[in-house]
Amino acid sequence: MEKSFTTRSLNIPFPKDDPHRALDMPVYESIAFDFASSEDIAANFRGELPAHVYSRTSNPTVEYFERKMKTLTGAHQALALASGMAAISNTILALCKAGDNIISSSHLFGHSFALFDQSLANYGLETRFVDTSNIEEIESQIDENTRLIYFETVTNPQLEIADIEAIAKLADRYNLILVADSTVTPPVVFNSKALGVHVEVMSTTKFISGGATSFGGVILDNGLYDWSKNPNLRDFHEKFGKDAFIARLRKNYYRNTGGAMTAHTAHYQILGLDILELRLERSYQNCMALGDFLLAHPKVKKVTYPGLKTSTDYQLAIKQFNGKPGTVMTFDLESEAACFTFMNELQIIRRATNLNDNKSLIIHPYSTIYVEFPESERIEMGINDTMMRLSVGIESAQDLMADIEQALTKI
Ligand code: PLP
Repeated sequence: MEKSFTTRSLNIPFPKDDPHRALDMPVYESIAFDFASSEDIAANFRGELPAHVYSRTSNPTVEYFERKMKTLTGAHQALALASGMAAISNTILALCKAGDNIISSSHLFGHSFALFDQSLANYGLETRFVDTSNIEEIESQIDENTRLIYFETVTNPQLEIADIEAIAKLADRYNLILVADSTVTPPVVFNSKALGVHVEVMSTTKFISGGATSFGGVILDNGLYDWSKNPNLRDFHEKFGKDAFIARLRKNYYRNTGGAMTAHTAHYQILGLDILELRLERSYQNCMALGDFLLAHPKVKKVTYPGLKTSTDYQLAIKQFNGKPGTVMTFDLESEAACFTFMNELQIIRRATNLNDNKSLIIHPYSTIYVEFPESERIEMGINDTMMRLSVGIESAQDLMADIEQALTKI
């Protein structure tokens, strides 16, 4: 029988034995690494003697975090970066060039949307935004310059779930790379490889960091895509075969754009993985209790959490995330003013923009994360002014419900 996520996480061996038999991976906060001879360092630079050289390219503590991510997910390769946005931008840069296009869900985290719509568009990379629940619409946007399909496993903050196997089939039919942002559904509830995702990106700032301890991001190559089929990776495929994608990142975009994870961050993230399952379970139980409570409350107009049986995406949540589609929910009050009054009255739940902190956090996306987008785009993205996003923490459900109840009485 396979051991639990937590048991496995706690027992993954270090890449090299520690001379002191340390239980926890030491924090190698060293910029550079010494070589015994000039012949050795020359051999390393020729690619003949693998070793850590300079921590912007690789580092022993970061390597151990990458090994944990790889082992726990079953991925072929893992690369850790400074943030979720670094993971997303590096992935697209390594797979595409000017003149290419990508197809993406239009329902995305705001900064990912802005990266595609603004930053990358300036360099000649076009993004075709679609409704990823509509396979015909995705297919209608594919042409010979399309390189990949991008989506979020549970969209933030709309909390919609796409049918991943259906999109994976389409991607395979056209030799496109399927890239999933799984930030909201970490590996303890989601196996991207089993559903045919080629590349998984995530912000480890959220669940994996152990509760807002540090910024981080990870790129996982599931080893399912034949990299010779991407024209931008052919040279790397000839030299590195199955490792072509991560090799191109390490030798080019990751190294040259300077988005490495630090050793201290890797230390937090390593410890965060060990407690991920416990934290997620507690937050999930809170979500279920809060969901029922909010659904029954007369002042609440709408509750969205795909873990609830009332959700239209409930069956997909069961199939793809074992019924635990992350621990973020949204709910609507009658107006923006009611949302503001309610949020101002909260005493335990904090007004802040992050997900999967140990603390419960609430935000009004329309007036904050999405404020720079015109009204028409906000509506297209499914962001309206009566909705609040609640990232449910690990306090007790009773305390959270009491806080919400007292604040609702004030509107
Ligand atoms: N992807 C999703 C779904 C997110 O919610 C976020 C941040 O909230 C990111 C990516 C970006 O992560 P980071 O803040 O670590 O760059």
